[in-house]
Amino acid sequence: MSIRLLPDQLASQIAAGEVVERPFSVIKELVENSIDAGATTITIDVREGGRELMQVADNGDGIAADEIELAFQRHATSKLASADDLESIKTLGFRGEALASIAAVSHMTVVSRAAGDPNGVRLVLEAGNLISRKTAGAPKGTVIAVENLFYNVPARLKFLKTVGTEKRLIDEFVTRYALAYPEIRFRLTQGNRVTLQTTGSGSVRDVLLAVYGPETTEQLIEITADAGDERPVKVWGFVSDPALNWSNRSNINLFVNGRWIRDNRLTYAVIQAYHTLLPVGRYPFGLIFIEMPPEEVDVNVHPTKVEVRFRDEGMMFGAVQRAVRSHLLDTEPTRDMGAWPAPRDNYQGPVSWSGTTTPAVSRHEDQPVQPGLDWSARPAASNETGESTTDLGDYPTEPPVRLPMMRVIGQVGAAYIIAEGPEGLYLIDQHAAHERILYEELLAEWQQRQVVSQGLVAGAAIYLSPSQSTLLEEYEGLLANLGFQIEAFGPNAVVLRAVPAILGKADPAQALLGVLADLESERQPIQAELEALVARRVCKSGAVKAGQTLSREEMEAMIRQLEVCETPHTCPHGRPTMIHLSAAQLARQFGRT
Ligand code: ADP
Ligand code: MG
Repeated sequence: MSIRLLPDQLASQIAAGEVVERPFSVIKELVENSIDAGATTITIDVREGGRELMQVADNGDGIAADEIELAFQRHATSKLASADDLESIKTLGFRGEALASIAAVSHMTVVSRAAGDPNGVRLVLEAGNLISRKTAGAPKGTVIAVENLFYNVPARLKFLKTVGTEKRLIDEFVTRYALAYPEIRFRLTQGNRVTLQTTGSGSVRDVLLAVYGPETTEQLIEITADAGDERPVKVWGFVSDPALNWSNRSNINLFVNGRWIRDNRLTYAVIQAYHTLLPVGRYPFGLIFIEMPPEEVDVNVHPTKVEVRFRDEGMMFGAVQRAVRSHLLDTEPTRDMGAWPAPRDNYQGPVSWSGTTTPAVSRHEDQPVQPGLDWSARPAASNETGESTTDLGDYPTEPPVRLPMMRVIGQVGAAYIIAEGPEGLYLIDQHAAHERILYEELLAEWQQRQVVSQGLVAGAAIYLSPSQSTLLEEYEGLLANLGFQIEAFGPNAVVLRAVPAILGKADPAQALLGVLADLESERQPIQAELEALVARRVCKSGAVKAGQTLSREEMEAMIRQLEVCETPHTCPHGRPTMIHLSAAQLARQFGRT
């Protein structure tokens, strides 16, 4: 085939594919245009998950009658004049592609009136071709209706997900912008149902209440930018109490200068701040707003403008992680008993005995799950303020929430301890619980610089691979601080003279090899993280295993120790240490209520 230029229409269809991937991309572009136009009310109507109709109406500046056709040309924009402007973009749009792209793959109707114009204009387009133009009476603002999306691109149509999925994506998207722009009144209707309505009061909390309800909102911790902080990057927003968590990251939303962005690194910065506070595979809620000089961030990476590049990525990571972590550490004031949600029985842990569940987050598929003990069961004493004394490096510590007093009943499967407390039944994972106990013990010793070491009478000879030797050399100091006394013994062998006392009867050589394996796989440059890593491994090695029968005295000792832990509900790796079956749950399961 010879080389030729694509016909215009085909070229714009191809280009449209970059901007308009699916219905929610249309909503995104139209809503962003409304925000850029200074709208204070944005009304969105969707039918059939956007396949049939998507209409966005705003009361913004409107489009001047003599410019309206131009707005539908590719690369036509009122938001950018020169290459210099590209350096410091303050609007959500700037590429001048959206209207042209959407029009190319749909039937579109636009009615708009600019403030200065006596009348509005009504345009009808099909596949980007102008079908009609009329003068129309209209209030100031713009209404754009998009029908039959992708009717002329069957390949795209085939790849659309179910109506339900598209609906959900639109819900999620509009929710994000409603949260980021609380001063704008949003109303989203899908079919005949209003799925989101906000008041435009200007308060993010009001939007959170409208979206998530009071129970969840009360468990969110507000992050405020430090007023005295002179740094140009400001971070604020809301994150969840560790008790409120989800099975995926979709509740972590990031905004840079009012633009919703996707950024794995910054999302990870939020997750990192919850280190050891959440069970493995559970994620927090995060609504993170970042404000920074526009020159420091490139938003022109992709036509959808969802990916950005930061000039200083490392600094951004630190700023987000620090902001979240410092507020997690400092949540005492919000933890007055009055603010605790009513007891819930919607634990959906690994055991499927929870009968009925009450969705606490009405608009999401995931239910919040407690990492172990029902938080509402905390005793009144939990209100006490207490200094966290077992904080290693910079790690966040939960506030001192003690367990209620428990009575040991027995052991099941040589793996779990059954105990009874004022709030019902507790099943405790003996290994996870012991790991937690040892971890806090070790950190306390460490902080006082007096890790208890236990000498090995015979010494244990260990043969190492070259990479293991290198690691050992590199982390010698760290290991010595933790109570490992190691002597070189030939080129690739060492003798262990002493180990942390916490290891107890565990195989010392296996423990050290485990530490080396973790150091090798983790590759975390942060010192505090390395120390915690080693500490976790030592405690894992030292903890009683599943399959070990415990005497009543041993179980009781363990429960007493767990009761005084700072963070008794999760093991250092974040897995739950216990499952709580409340009295109410028991009654329900037995049909007593
Ligand atoms: P961009 O937003 O990148 O400028 P678009 O194709 O989305 O490109 O829009 C083209 C132009 O049409 C915008 O620059 C703006 O001037 C105008 N426009 C689009 N939507 C609206 C709206 N809802 N209200 C006012 N003007 C609008
Ligand atoms: Mg735009």
